[in-house]
Amino acid sequence: MLNALTIDLEDWYHPELVRHHTAEEEQKGQIEQSTQMLLNLLRDRGAKATFFVVGAIARRHPRLVEAIVTEGHELACHGMSHRPLWELTPDEFRSELQEFAAIIGELVPGVQAVGFRAPTFSLDNRTRWALGILTEFGYHYDSSVFPTKMPVYGVSGCPLTPYRPSVEDVAIADERGTLVEFPMSVWTWAGLKVPVCGGFYLRALPFSFVRFCLRQINQTRPFTIYVHPWETYPDTPRLALPFLSRFITYYNIEKMMHRLVVLLDVFSFAPMKTVLEEMGELTL
Ligand SMILES: [Zn+2]
Repeated sequence: MLNALTIDLEDWYHPELVRHHTAEEEQKGQIEQSTQMLLNLLRDRGAKATFFVVGAIARRHPRLVEAIVTEGHELACHGMSHRPLWELTPDEFRSELQEFAAIIGELVPGVQAVGFRAPTFSLDNRTRWALGILTEFGYHYDSSVFPTKMPVYGVSGCPLTPYRPSVEDVAIADERGTLVEFPMSVWTWAGLKVPVCGGFYLRALPFSFVRFCLRQINQTRPFTIYVHPWETYPDTPRLALPFLSRFITYYNIEKMMHRLVVLLDVFSFAPMKTVLEEMGELTL
């Protein structure tokens, strides 16, 4: 079964628990080096992924965008500034998408992003206005819903497989919906929903347990994995954050690249758009 491999293309100062502790313009980025490691790995393994790209990174590192497209990966949008939707007005979100489209149009003419991932999984019922705006801008799928309530993000009670969210309630599937949602992957057991789809969960949970859960999910449906270049890069700066933020952001970074290699060996992956097309959820 094909699963969706996704890379959120952002630098080490973008994550939610870091960005308030550092001024972006003061920081020396590492995105070129960290992304190159991922591109090399994917090329070696013959694997293709979806890159959800932050527009500010695309503007500053045009060669990365060109490399992603040249190497046959899918280019998708991760916002312009990496501010969560909670912090944007609908008009500000429109401006972000407009700016993103202009940059991509200039760098890789003819390529149009059809997939979107909201920074910090910030699509929920407070920000469901974003669904209509994404359709206005030519997006066909979204992958921002975290289908269980966590301290910062998450939506309870929504489907676990790709579905079309209702514009009135993102937790409800509505065939008339114009966008397909690929929610983050959770393993369900005895009423519990265990996130096993990437980021902190992939770093912190025992890896044999993660593989078991992913195999279980694959019995009935594809899963998605998300990885950030800063969390597979050994030299990511570790800021002196409060203990819990530091743990969530940096724990097991040194193990993440190996985990990704093993996942590529054990499971089959493709860009998210391809997986949705294979499932018959998307026809472009
Ligand atoms: Zn992000």
